[in-house]
Amino acid sequence: MSPLVGGIEAGGTKFVCAVGTGPNDIRDQLRIATTTPRETIGHAIRFFQSQREKLGPLSAIGIASFGPIDPVRRSPTFGYITSTPKPGWGNIDFAGSVGRALDIPVGFDTDVNVAALVEWRWGAGQGVENLIYLTIGTGIGGGGLVNGRLMHGLIHPEMGHIRIPHDLQADPYPGHCPYHGDCLEGLACGPAMNERWQQASESLPPDHPAWALEANYLALALVNFICTLSPERIVLGGGVMSQTQLIGLVRDKVQQLLNEYVQSPAILSRVDEYIVSPALGDRSGVLGAFALAQQLVARGTC
Ligand code: ZN
Repeated sequence: MSPLVGGIEAGGTKFVCAVGTGPNDIRDQLRIATTTPRETIGHAIRFFQSQREKLGPLSAIGIASFGPIDPVRRSPTFGYITSTPKPGWGNIDFAGSVGRALDIPVGFDTDVNVAALVEWRWGAGQGVENLIYLTIGTGIGGGGLVNGRLMHGLIHPEMGHIRIPHDLQADPYPGHCPYHGDCLEGLACGPAMNERWQQASESLPPDHPAWALEANYLALALVNFICTLSPERIVLGGGVMSQTQLIGLVRDKVQQLLNEYVQSPAILSRVDEYIVSPALGDRSGVLGAFALAQQLVARGTC
């Protein structure tokens, strides 16, 4: 039986707080608009205090946070939101505030790492030990597990900002990233599509050349990740991927670019089961936060 835990999906516009044990057992849930850190985190803490009175003790709380953040437990600024452009939220001790107020162990990670964790635990990533989750939306972020553990290292992966070939003849659009211009995010995030084609990406018809170009950029990135990290499965989420024909174009292009060099049936003949859509939908943030909290309890690091 999984332990009763709390989860916070902390986004730039809303927080979702929940208490439960898993996908079939979310006991209660609260949505809060993200305002100031004091007000928003205070509201979340009061929710968990009242839940604890109602349901009994929680074993841990997991937080899936917008970033950039410091998720490295040995770091002096572990648990902080660090250099975010969101006003008032820079250099905030998020996990520490929650942990001290509730006297409870807190797991803290990026929203994409948590998305990878939850797909691995209950969704499209079950049964493997090496997994990448990439979200393609307002920005592009990536996270995942290597040998069953979330990737951290120096800080955390920033898979959206890798450099990929950009043929300026075919695509003169200079790129959207304020740091790098035409990095992966700069070329392939939702706002880049909107700017390049001068219309909202969701209104581009399925046969528009935008989608082949998008698939090409995403496939170039995936080929880099496949060659460097050797993932056993890749989950593609985010608003841009809701265009249902896109994932098939990406699969075809990945096979074409690898040119049978990576000799795995996952890529050569079962690519439909290798590059997949997420399975958990809207609930993945809070469920991922549950999974993070339960991982903390299971590892006895609290
Ligand atoms: Zn960039």
